[in-house]
Amino acid sequence: MTSPAAFRQVAILGLGLIGSSIARAVRDRMPDIRVTGFDSDAATRATARRLAIAHDIPDQMAAAVADADLIILCVPVGAMGPVAQDLAGHIRADAVISDVGSSKASVLTALQAALPHHHVIPAHPVAGTERSGPEAGFAALFHNRWCIITPPEGADEAKVMQLSAFWEAMGANVERMDAQHHDLVLAVTSHLPHLIAYTIVGTASDLESVTRSEVIKYSAGGFRDFTRIAASDPTMWRDVFLSNKDAVLEMLQRFSEDLTALQRAIRWGDGDALFDLFSRTRAIRRSIIEEGQDDARPDFGRSDH
Ligand code: NAP
Repeated sequence: MTSPAAFRQVAILGLGLIGSSIARAVRDRMPDIRVTGFDSDAATRATARRLAIAHDIPDQMAAAVADADLIILCVPVGAMGPVAQDLAGHIRADAVISDVGSSKASVLTALQAALPHHHVIPAHPVAGTERSGPEAGFAALFHNRWCIITPPEGADEAKVMQLSAFWEAMGANVERMDAQHHDLVLAVTSHLPHLIAYTIVGTASDLESVTRSEVIKYSAGGFRDFTRIAASDPTMWRDVFLSNKDAVLEMLQRFSEDLTALQRAIRWGDGDALFDLFSRTRAIRRSIIEEGQDDARPDFGRSDH
């Protein structure tokens, strides 16, 4: 089988953590591809120019996308629809429109409604950090991480293969899924953990009987790892919960039932139930490390970045 044709020009809209990481990865790994970029924030455009992450970062979005054969929306999920609407009339008929949003069903609907005659092929790189903005990005972000592509029914197979090859060239492993299934899987692996972290950190900061300085001083007892997740971008996460509402509520219901069962085990002194659960969860952590999706070091190896 011949390998899919490479894209010639990629336009990245939204030059934050994810957008700037894609730009850097393309520059490093696919130097023949021309990279253009745009961000609605003039200060972000100026920073991205200073960092030289793209060949051209014009002040108008239309100029960034006009000749691109791949356009990737890297803006918060709630901004995907409006940005796609602004693209209409300014892009090539054969361009692939993709995105990196953390929820997929609502983004697919929004992109297809805005650009009904274009090749819309959403994607989600399951990689990130709690940081935002163009200075936070780095080329290796997607290396050995999964990128889930969620092509709609009837998508042009050659274009899907071209997009898959693009993500693989950035070091990602590509998997295909339908958008609804993606949203259910990510609700439990990403969205619910963020909700729990936001809740715990919020609860600790509201406690009156424990002082704020005690919370910070003794944070290594477990709280500290939650604070990393709870430091994630508020705009991004507000949009994720609003756009993946049904799947998150379904997982939250399951979680509440399991939490109630644990509460009961503690109340009745059922040590076996606690021990069994904690043994199963420890095995999951081991599998994640064995599959290269995290680091066994106590700081998760994150001090490297
Ligand atoms: P980020 O660092 O905040 O970057 C988003 C950028 O988009 C910001 O510079 C923002 O500018 C800009 N923007 C907002 N509205 C825009 C518009 N209408 N037109 C052009 N630019 C606009 O966020 P991020 O972490 O890269 O997230 C981007 C997307 O990636 C989100 O959809 C998120 O769900 C997804 N994602 C994130 C992660 C993660 O861990 N962070 C992982 C996978 C996927 P302002 O700052 O001025 O608003």
